[in-house]
Amino acid sequence: MDSAGINILMYHQVGRFKPMKAHRSTYCDHRRFASQMAYLKRFDYHVISLPQALACLRGEAPVPPRAVVLTFDDGYENFYEYAWPVLQAHGFPAMVYLIAGMLGEPSRWFAADGRDTPPLMSAERVRQLRREGVDFGAHSVSHIRLAQQQETRQIREEVFQSRALLEDVLGEQVLHFCYPYGSHDRRVVDAVADAGFETATTCVRSPATVADDPLTLPRKAVSFGDNLLGYFWRLHVKNTSKVPAIRREGMRFLDTASEGPRIETAGGSAR
Ligand SMILES: [Zn+2]
Repeated sequence: MDSAGINILMYHQVGRFKPMKAHRSTYCDHRRFASQMAYLKRFDYHVISLPQALACLRGEAPVPPRAVVLTFDDGYENFYEYAWPVLQAHGFPAMVYLIAGMLGEPSRWFAADGRDTPPLMSAERVRQLRREGVDFGAHSVSHIRLAQQQETRQIREEVFQSRALLEDVLGEQVLHFCYPYGSHDRRVVDAVADAGFETATTCVRSPATVADDPLTLPRKAVSFGDNLLGYFWRLHVKNTSKVPAIRREGMRFLDTASEGPRIETAGGSAR
């Protein structure tokens, strides 16, 4: 099997934004986004869906060279307005992670920082985009830092409910999860496993490989300031986290038994 990794890229908002200093990693100018997608097309990157990436990492299909997955957190309406037309023009698949309890509402968690609170997609929009080919995953019910919750019961409610609510909206199975703020610990990962999710993505910056647990897949954020050179850099530089990833025993795609017992991390990689 091809041991090369798959770059799972993380986007948040795509649109028209004033120049900014803070929070740049969650905004992408729509013209930059268009040139990034054109770059992937021109240089023969293989943009595959997250379910396809899962099949590759499971060894059911070869990992294509220069494999990239595009993910979009939170489900902003500006995905529909600015990102999806560009993706459609290139025939690129996308995974959008929805906050199950906030469909059609403003992204009000930004208000605490005095930031704009752009609207999240409505259930109607989600169903429309599903018909047009967008993949959807769950991003909790209320966008809280899961690993910071004292009560394991509350973590499990956020995880289980997000799947149930979105399955109700979509009328099909929802098998992919994304940890809000990347916040996860062993309790959170176990909840995601027990809820029946097949993959979950973090904010740990590295390519996904067969050595990863499918429920702690790393991703690379694309920043507001990334010109094409910065974009290339993110695709090709492996700035692997110093914190060891949570990998449940025997749950890696490829078991590398020679590594010996794993050390559990209590804090996960919450930012
Ligand atoms: Zn989020």
